[in-house]
Amino acid sequence: MTFPQTPSPKPRILAIANQKGGVGKTTTAINLGTALAAVGEQVLIVDLDPQGNASTGLGVTRTSQMRSTYHVLVGEAQLHHVVVETGIPRLDCAPSTMDLLGAEIELSDMERKTYRLADAIGILSGQTGLGYTYILIDCPPSLNLLTINSFCAADAILVPLQCEFFALEGLSQLLKTVERVRASLNPRLVIQGVVLTMFDRRNSLSEQVAQDVRGVLGEKVYETVIPRNVRVSEAPSYGKPVLLYDNTCIGSQAYIRLASEIIRREKELRAA
Ligand code: ADP
Ligand code: MG
Repeated sequence: MTFPQTPSPKPRILAIANQKGGVGKTTTAINLGTALAAVGEQVLIVDLDPQGNASTGLGVTRTSQMRSTYHVLVGEAQLHHVVVETGIPRLDCAPSTMDLLGAEIELSDMERKTYRLADAIGILSGQTGLGYTYILIDCPPSLNLLTINSFCAADAILVPLQCEFFALEGLSQLLKTVERVRASLNPRLVIQGVVLTMFDRRNSLSEQVAQDVRGVLGEKVYETVIPRNVRVSEAPSYGKPVLLYDNTCIGSQAYIRLASEIIRREKELRAA
């Protein structure tokens, strides 16, 4: 007698994107992922940056022989074949390798070149036993074909914005790209929210930037602000999320609050 297979729940797919480098994308992917896993979500972090900081920051050792998101995108491996456990309960990682640097050129003449990741996640979601509830995609600092693949796969985008003078510069380009993808490639795409990162209380500029950004983007900006915190920047060199490195520091506490705000927003988006 055969039993019908129970389909896995459909994961919520969030692309963490900003074409600026050093704004806190990877830090947010790692620590938001860890905070979501800590409250019982089943999380997969997909590393789409050739630099692989999300992979190494989660303690995944990268080797040139390993199969990575590159192999998934070019069709040489299925996503579940490259997924590795991180040692953190309920948190897995699909690592990247330097091969990804060449992926854009290779993908450019492939079929469904913007949907390679979406298709791979679709197959993964059909696999029983891999019931991810959240998939976070750590994007490279660019609006290239890798990022477009993440926008085509995602339900929503999360934008980390660093509290510095030119915070809003470049954002209009990002928003235009999102509009274009929504109009032609992925009609369900929305901006989940904008998270202010590296906020420095002692610096009045940080406060000014935060006010300006809220003035322009309104409720799209999360209430939670991620403070600049040395513990957050130390953690990756131990291959650990800051929540494991020091779960009481202000950076960890902020990522826990961000996770609950995101879960709340997800519920509202789903109900809408
Ligand atoms: P991106 O992925 O956007 O390039 P990262 O997440 O790698 O940015 O962050 C850039 C640098 O800033 C890293 O060295 C990281 O450790 C550091 N960093 C990120 N967030 C914080 C924070 N809240 N406090 C202190 N340092 C941070
Ligand atoms: Mg990064």
